[in-house]
Amino acid sequence: GPRPAPALTARGLRARYGSFTALDGVDLDLPPGRITAVVGPNGAGKSTLFHCLAGTLRPARGVVRFDGRDITRLPAHARTRLGIARTFQQLAVFPTLTVADNVRVGAEQGRVSDPGAVERTLRLLRLDGPLRALPAAGLPTGTLRRVELARALAGSPRVLLLDEPAAGLDTEEVAALTRVLKALAADGTALLVVEHDLDLVADLADDVHVMAAGRIVASGPPGRVLDAFGTAAGP
Ligand code: ADP
Ligand code: MG
Repeated sequence: GPRPAPALTARGLRARYGSFTALDGVDLDLPPGRITAVVGPNGAGKSTLFHCLAGTLRPARGVVRFDGRDITRLPAHARTRLGIARTFQQLAVFPTLTVADNVRVGAEQGRVSDPGAVERTLRLLRLDGPLRALPAAGLPTGTLRRVELARALAGSPRVLLLDEPAAGLDTEEVAALTRVLKALAADGTALLVVEHDLDLVADLADDVHVMAAGRIVASGPPGRVLDAFGTAAGP
């Protein structure tokens, strides 16, 4: 059937660091219920695009809209409140807080403050056992990534932005992450995954955009786009 109207859209995004142009006119749609992936070599501008969507970088030009509303000038915390949640490439959990309290903070910062959402999210990410009472400091990377994802989800976001969510995860953890992200999309969340693991993208994404030197140079379903770029990722 026809695709739903995008929850988050970017049009004509340009971004600079000093005189260096890191984004050079990028358009992107993140529709509800779909997993959109952005791939490309190091330095292509993936994280810069991510920051413009999350509100941690102001583009020099272009517009970001959420449900049609211009949010280009809205700071990151206000976007989170609207329902645009994110995770960080460098993990960002509160080390002295317990796992459950980290997730509670996420619920308080989110779109709706629903105490039930904390428990649901802890269960979804298998953090509801003894792990919930442990301080985040010292937990293994795979567990911290789950805590971070739980923190982002506890506010019931409508858009979820993930920068390299599989970094540092083993095969089993990647498979578990894939299941969770597909379930979120099936529930209607719009997902963006910035990722250089092309096997994961092939398995996960509905739509793939390839970036190079600050531009989107190819877009389409993963089988077609990833094959066209001569990668090992199968259809
Ligand atoms: P990717 O995430 O695709 O690896 P980035 O968006 O991080 O790419 O970076 C795009 C380009 O912008 C790179 O050439 C990078 O060196 C440069 N860049 C990124 N962040 C900064 C910064 N804070 N200051 C200066 N240059 C930056
Ligand atoms: Mg990056």
